Amino acid sequence: MKKILTISVLVLSLLLVSIPLIRANVMWQQPAEILYATTIILDAGHGGKDGGASSRDGLVERDLVLSITKMIEESLRLQGFNVVMIRCDDQDLASDYATNRKREDLNRRVEIINTTENAIAVSIHANAINNARWRGAQTFYDPKFLENKELATHIMDAMQANIGEFTREQRPISNIFILRNSKIPTALVEVGFLSNPDEARLLACEEYQQLMAYAIFEGILSFIEFMGLDEPILEVGD
Ligand SMILES: [Zn+2]
Repeated sequence: MKKILTISVLVLSLLLVSIPLIRANVMWQQPAEILYATTIILDAGHGGKDGGASSRDGLVERDLVLSITKMIEESLRLQGFNVVMIRCDDQDLASDYATNRKREDLNRRVEIINTTENAIAVSIHANAINNARWRGAQTFYDPKFLENKELATHIMDAMQANIGEFTREQRPISNIFILRNSKIPTALVEVGFLSNPDEARLLACEEYQQLMAYAIFEGILSFIEFMGLDEPILEVGD
């Protein structure tokens, strides 16, 4: 009798001990979708009638940057971040009756950026120039806020670490509409030169797009951690 009681107490105490673990495990398997207070706004440049740059082989900036941006979005969502996509399909943000399509499109993008709370923004583009030799991914920032430089630098560092030779240096720039008018930490990424045939071929590969997306994702996470913006919004367990 005494032995059974001892075993019962042992089983009971084991059960009690294991309850929080089981509960924690359930919570772990069913995480809330959004774990962090910081929202990441991803701006795939151009869209619809505005194709942006293009390669000799017909790769268009509009399509390339949307593909890469969707890959970054997926990684950020899996990580537990709220993501705002400025565009998810092949259209710009101007209305059908816009008199100045480009201006209305850019104004709308800036409006989304400046009306989203607790956010940072990354705009994704691809470059082209009248010289086939230029190549390399690069980040740009408006020097008006130190945070802009930090964000551009963290993404640039992650691209150099993951992609290596096809990269350049982060650079301040003051005449880019979105960067100049954004009131939150914002950087612009040029994923490479479509005017360079080698780089355009690389950018057309899904594997290279994945690598580029991963590097940008890693740079964003690194910036968020560096700035202490990784405060969780959920208490796990009790
Ligand atoms: Zn562009």
